[in-house]
Amino acid sequence: MTKRVVLIGHPVAHSLSGAMQQAAFDALKIDARYELWDRPPIELPEAIEELRGGDFLGANITIPHKERVVPMIDRSTEEATATGAVNTITHEGPRLVGHNTDVAGFEVALDKLVGRQKMPRTAVVLGAGGGSRAVVYGLIRAAFQRVIVFNRHLHRSEGLVRHFARSAAHMELRAMPWHESIIESEIAKTKLLINATSIGLTSDASPVPAEALLPELLVLDLIYKQTRLLRDAEAAGCTARDGELMLLHQGAASFSLWTGQPAPLEVMADALAAARAGGVVSAEGEPSGDRTTVVAGA
Ligand code: NDP
Repeated sequence: MTKRVVLIGHPVAHSLSGAMQQAAFDALKIDARYELWDRPPIELPEAIEELRGGDFLGANITIPHKERVVPMIDRSTEEATATGAVNTITHEGPRLVGHNTDVAGFEVALDKLVGRQKMPRTAVVLGAGGGSRAVVYGLIRAAFQRVIVFNRHLHRSEGLVRHFARSAAHMELRAMPWHESIIESEIAKTKLLINATSIGLTSDASPVPAEALLPELLVLDLIYKQTRLLRDAEAAGCTARDGELMLLHQGAASFSLWTGQPAPLEVMADALAAARAGGVVSAEGEPSGDRTTVVAGA
């Protein structure tokens, strides 16, 4: 019987995960199909119950459900509990287990960005959604000492800081209001800037003015494309990377959880590149696209 893995989100059309995961199943001759399920929040509990059926290997969960799904599953792993967000579901017999592989994906991206330099100890994070939670937890695990989170709606970043109160007890984790002058002043004091907002995804806007970007800054944009922020950063002489590696490695970690096999990274990277060349630009969590339910590869 063909096994099924589904991406549940709203919307999900144009997700890059479908191309990447289907290519991996096909390359390893695993009889499985990656499906995209567009489910609004009200239909989420029913969709999660459906996953208990024997034909499912598991699921990916994306915008806007990563936090909402937590109480609907039976057990959460350390990363899922720590972040309060689930992006991958597996089976443990009849029980559903929630994982957060965005954390592992982010850690690979961070290591690559830092390269041979010393790991910084301070960071400015823009955004306080599901992606930001994985980033902040990754920074805590990487022994950062000061992390400042800016979000358009301050209450959300304050909630994020409260959520991490215990795991960040040894360090300074603060939410600050989204004011250009405060953001600029914090960027001037830090070595690492991470954009975990969706600014730049569907428009050519940047979350920060180009003048705020100084040459020694490391810049990571979770968005999987050459955003204005990344272009400005490169023009200023910063080291800058997009969200490709994070997307690839969160997907590879999910694949291994579902199949028990190492992910064919090269195949997945090629499939991502091909999907991108074909005009698909969305990273996980893109709030755009139409609302059709499609089967990957169909
Ligand atoms: P969420 O919807 O959970 O969060 C969106 C964030 O963007 C919030 O902080 C929101 O602020 C902010 N935002 C959106 N529009 C604006 C705006 N006009 N001005 C200021 N802030 C804005 O999404 P995710 O956290 O899941 O994803 C965020 C981004 O990260 C997306 O672009 C997604 O593609 C990318 N991502 C990439 C991954 C990868 O593997 N490369 C993995 C996960 C995410 P507010 O709370 O105030 O609305």
